[in-house]
Amino acid sequence: MKFLLYILTFSSSIFYYSIHGQFEYLEPYVPYENTPKETHPILEIKTWVHIMQYSKSDPKNITKDSLHYLKTQFKWINQMFSQLKPPTVANANGEKPYVKDARIRFIMDTISFHIDENGWDRMKMQKVSNSNRWIDIIKIDADSNSITLDGVRDRFKPILDSLIIEGTLLNNGVYHPLKAVRSGYNTIIYLKESINVSEDSTGHVSYFQKIDKNCHRDNWVNFTNEDKNYLHIFYTGASKDAPAFGCGPSPYFLNVSNILMNGGYATAQLTGHELGHCVGLRHTNTPQFNDLPRTDKFGWLKCDDKNVSNNIMGYNLCRNYLSPLQIGYIHYKYSNVAELAQTTKNIDHKTKKIKIKKNTLWKKSIISTGDIIVKRNSTLTIKGKLIMPKGARIILEKRSKLIVDGGLIRSVKDKWGGIIYCRTYPNIHKKPLFKKNKAQLIEENNGEILY
Ligand SMILES: [Zn+2]
Repeated sequence: MKFLLYILTFSSSIFYYSIHGQFEYLEPYVPYENTPKETHPILEIKTWVHIMQYSKSDPKNITKDSLHYLKTQFKWINQMFSQLKPPTVANANGEKPYVKDARIRFIMDTISFHIDENGWDRMKMQKVSNSNRWIDIIKIDADSNSITLDGVRDRFKPILDSLIIEGTLLNNGVYHPLKAVRSGYNTIIYLKESINVSEDSTGHVSYFQKIDKNCHRDNWVNFTNEDKNYLHIFYTGASKDAPAFGCGPSPYFLNVSNILMNGGYATAQLTGHELGHCVGLRHTNTPQFNDLPRTDKFGWLKCDDKNVSNNIMGYNLCRNYLSPLQIGYIHYKYSNVAELAQTTKNIDHKTKKIKIKKNTLWKKSIISTGDIIVKRNSTLTIKGKLIMPKGARIILEKRSKLIVDGGLIRSVKDKWGGIIYCRTYPNIHKKPLFKKNKAQLIEENNGEILY
């Protein structure tokens, strides 16, 4: 075993820095500049874009005529992940660890348009219709332009915003309170709009409540039937006035609203941040990994070299950096969890053969980019998971070895092509003449192959 090359622990000396303790397991997943593409391929996450339109005559969203807008969005998002900038703030060890290309891309695979007012409206003000929550009116006074409500309501925020008087003879309508004053066990609300008539005290007050569906899963349920083969991006809207907003609560869906209200690049930055959540990253105000700054000040501030980072997962105006461990964590998740690998393009196609020309140990899990050819007299040892794309094969030349040492070889959805023994690639139908020259397959330490 001592002859094996530990090619995966390799890292570029310029950006070398120390990772200790609990996150050491992520280090082999970080794609440094010189890390081979075969073992650290670009992770291509398949997205399905859903444009939710308000109505046919008034879409209040992107239309089929503005697909260039979307293409530009994806170009910018992928630039964010492939052309990262160095960190502005040093981490707790005084280091500024940096990898330029996260080797993560978001592929716009499919686009659908839906006309659906509910699906479109992610934030609205809605009248409280539950009568248990209405408040009885005790007295209406036109002279002081006030109403007296049952109970102590001066701390009750929603009715201080706007309230709806209902059930009276002449005063029904929407009113805006000026102030609320406690009066014994009741509350007097002084109103901006004029009250018409006093002695009209039979009604009740309802109010508007903010319905926030930013992070809801309803669109994913209703429009994809909870599909887990893609990361579904819903471009939605809101009837309540709001700048663009979004939420990425799941590896299978996210929501970005009111994009036309923002500048194009700001929307790409917002979407890139939400996609970061989808693939497993948290905010940087408290560090998720120990290569991040100890603190990161939030509040849409310009990034600086003191306490406002330029991290994509922060609330800053730069959003152009991810730490090596943030990047490594995403690769770790997607190459170890088969359900997540299912949302990648990597498992759909064979893009590049991997040729093993010397003894090689794969300690980390890998989604293969295609056929793996183990050249004669070489050994490939698999310690992690190896996910094979659809139809891809492992081709063993004569006197080569494949050792599955505690590892697992499998595909995700579609079958992989299995193991082929041959004399020399590419003549895979020619078998070795002598039995002793046939390649060896060794499964040890609970190593397993699922065909
Ligand atoms: Zn966030």
